[in-house]
Amino acid sequence: AHLDRIAAVDQEVHAFLHVDADGALAAARRVDEERAAGNTTSPLAGVPLALKDVLTTTDMPTTCGSKMLEGWVPPYDATVTRRLREAGVVILGKTNMDEFAMGSSTENSAYGPTRNPWDLERIPGGSGGGSSAALAAFEAPLAIGTDTGGSIRQPGAVTGTVGVKPTYGGVSRYGLVAFSSSLDQPGPCARTVLDAALLHEVIAGHDPMDSTSINQPVPQVVAAAEQGASGGLQGVRVGVVRELSGDGYQPGVQRAFDAAVKQLSALGAEVIEVSCPHFTYALPAYYLIAPSECSSNLARFDAMRYGLRVGDDGARSAEEVMSLTREAGFGPEVKRRIMLGTYALSSGYYDAYYGQAQKVRTLITRDFTAAFEQVDVLVSPTTPTTAFKIGERVDDPMAMYLADLCTIPSNLAGNAAMSVPCGLSDEDGLPVGLQIMAPAMADEWLYRVGAAYE
Ligand code: GLN
Repeated sequence: AHLDRIAAVDQEVHAFLHVDADGALAAARRVDEERAAGNTTSPLAGVPLALKDVLTTTDMPTTCGSKMLEGWVPPYDATVTRRLREAGVVILGKTNMDEFAMGSSTENSAYGPTRNPWDLERIPGGSGGGSSAALAAFEAPLAIGTDTGGSIRQPGAVTGTVGVKPTYGGVSRYGLVAFSSSLDQPGPCARTVLDAALLHEVIAGHDPMDSTSINQPVPQVVAAAEQGASGGLQGVRVGVVRELSGDGYQPGVQRAFDAAVKQLSALGAEVIEVSCPHFTYALPAYYLIAPSECSSNLARFDAMRYGLRVGDDGARSAEEVMSLTREAGFGPEVKRRIMLGTYALSSGYYDAYYGQAQKVRTLITRDFTAAFEQVDVLVSPTTPTTAFKIGERVDDPMAMYLADLCTIPSNLAGNAAMSVPCGLSDEDGLPVGLQIMAPAMADEWLYRVGAAYE
């Protein structure tokens, strides 16, 4: 049914870069055989899923939305991919994304943008717009995204779907093509909080192949979602972040958010206002740290090992081939980040830029620590505006970067955050997201509050 749906709508939506119909049907048949043989299967066995094209797969290309990796089929599965397969999840295909996960609209994909199923003239968010659009268009009931600065939550918000950035280290990054290693985190995308929880438990857990993977039991998020759905929020303390509202927030978004806060309180939560003064500096700190790590990580695309190779005519030096390949293979946003990051890491500038940004990062983490002494979760709008029009921000990187104003603090601190649908804006009728943030390794709180609210 999902393959039929993809065939019917994906021409327009363009959520997928690659669909593996044969592979999906074969995986589904294997689950049927297991069941027929009386073997126990996991709760998600046979359920189809859309996988962001930044996680490696041995049976499908992994392009990261870039010409640099066009047609590249990796020699190994990401840990997330492997765990999905082991749970019997049926991978339908790979979803579109901003090149190397840099962007907030999927317009930076080398293969053309994804369209928002709510309004095909609008962006589905990014970088994981393909995964969220696939859910919103009913092309898949589950998807995987990755979140470095908001790429799971912001697409979730603007497509009316659920997206979770687990605690940093909660889900393995092995086989996730690196953008900014200290921030990148894979996570579940779904249409309901409980679906996201079921997927979360399949992909999470310690992995010796990822040195930053946390060696602790997986948070019991399914039980937390069930508790929230049936039990209300009596005694739960919810903090509204004062700094994440005001100028730049669409009135329709603000009103939907205010209504959500009222509902949390009606569910029994104790709501208080909390100040996180350094959140104002999160965006500039992120746009030094993320490009710095990107400039280092993307050095591997050197035209020698794998991927695109341009100008290898036997007469050119390796350095010339490398230069021609990087010129042709990377899009403008990726080049901008490599240049910014290389500059920020240069000798003489390191302390002034990268070092300074790391100090700001510590201050933001301390803001969270202080806030979580007062409350169990923090809430804010997920993103300041609803889905904007395709093309509207492509020539204005600063305007594009503002989409992640509210999501970036949790990446810098490494804690857990979710976006859950919060109705439609009364201005334009488009979906709004409620962001819920919880302390590191307390992902259960997201699911309890999200399921009670939804
Ligand atoms: N939009 C942000 C950026 O461009 C976040 C991207 C992400 O989370 N991968 O970097």
